[in-house]
Amino acid sequence: KLYNEVQEAKGNIRVFCRCRPLSKAEITAGHETVVDFDAAKDGELGILSGGSTKKTFKFDRVYTPKDDQVDVFADASPMVMSVLDGYNVCIFAYGQTGTGKTFTMEGTEQNRGVNYRTLEELFKIADERSETFTYNISVSVLEVYNEQIRDLLAASPTSKKLKIKQASEGFHHVPGIVEAKEENTSQIWSVLQAGSSVRAVGSNNVNEHSNRSHCMLCIMVRAKNLMNVECTNSKLWLVDLAGSERLAKTDAQGDRLKEAQNINRSLSALGDVISALATKSSHIPYRNSKLTHLLQHSLGGDSKTLMFVQISPSEQDLNETLSSLNFTTWVR
Ligand code: ADP
Ligand code: MG
Repeated sequence: KLYNEVQEAKGNIRVFCRCRPLSKAEITAGHETVVDFDAAKDGELGILSGGSTKKTFKFDRVYTPKDDQVDVFADASPMVMSVLDGYNVCIFAYGQTGTGKTFTMEGTEQNRGVNYRTLEELFKIADERSETFTYNISVSVLEVYNEQIRDLLAASPTSKKLKIKQASEGFHHVPGIVEAKEENTSQIWSVLQAGSSVRAVGSNNVNEHSNRSHCMLCIMVRAKNLMNVECTNSKLWLVDLAGSERLAKTDAQGDRLKEAQNINRSLSALGDVISALATKSSHIPYRNSKLTHLLQHSLGGDSKTLMFVQISPSEQDLNETLSSLNFTTWVR
C-alpha cells in the first residue's frame, strides 16, 4: 500500500486546526470560550468575535479540546508515512505561546505527540516491509534561535555555529549535525527528550527560550528496494515553531526586540514560501530565513506539507487567535 494514494487528488498542503481546552486558571477566572465547534466535523471553526457576529474558518480538519493525541495522529499519519515511499514531508505547529504546539508535536510522557508516534510508526512499517525494503532511519534535532542553528544532540551544542550547505544529492545538509541512528523503538522517547532538554542549556528561562526558537526534528529515511536495488533518500521535518504572538510595546527594545524581529521574519518567510507554493508562483523565496532555507527541499515540488494551527479557546486570546487563523488563509 502506498501511503500517498490518499493524498494524490488533493494537492500537497494541508491545514489542521487544533484548539486546546480552557486551562484551570482560565476556568477559575471565569473566562468564556469564543470558539464554536458545531461544524467541526466538516472542518469548520466558528469564532464569536463580539455580539452576535461569527466568523467562520475552513480547514482540512478541526480538533476540539476533546480530541486526543491518537485522533490527531490518525489523520496526520498517511502524510507522515509517505516519507517511506520517498516523499519529503514537512509538518509544522504554528500559533501563539501556550496554545499547545509543543503538546501536539512533543507531547508528554503519558500523552505522546506526533514526533514520537511518527517514529514509532515508521519503525513498525519499516519492519513490516523488511522482506522488500531495507530502511535506514536516522534522527537529528536542531534549534533555530535568532537566525542561528544549534544542534541539540551534539555533545556540546553551544560550541558550534552551524551553517547550511548544499549537499551533492540536492539535500541541504548541516555539516556536523549528529544523527542518532534509531534501531529500536524503546530508545526513541529518550532520544527526543535528550534533544528537548538541551534546548534549555544556556538560557535563564527554559519556557521563554523555547517559545522564541524553532525546534526542528529531522528524520532522514534511506530506503533500498531489495527487488530492483533502487535507493531513495527522503526527509521528514517536524517543526515546533516559535510563538507567533506579537511583542508587547513595553518589551520592544534590546534583545527582546531582536528576537521578536527574527521570529517575525522567519514566520512571515514561511508564510511567503507556502503562499508562493500555493499560488504556483515562479519564484519561491526560500532564502529569506534560516527556517525556510533548511526546509527548502521539503517544501514544494512533490513534497507534502501539513500545518497545525494551534489556538486558545479563551476570550482573552481572541486577537491572537484571529491573527493565527488569518495566517492560514494567507498560506492557502
Ligand atoms: P505552546 O508550545 O504552544 O507554547 P504548550 O504545548 O506548552 O503550548 O501547551 C500549554 C499548556 O496547555 C500545557 O500545559 C499543555 O499540556 C496544555 N495543553 C495544550 N494542548 C492541550 C490539549 N489538546 N489537551 C490538554 N492539554 C493541552
Ligand atoms: Mg512550546
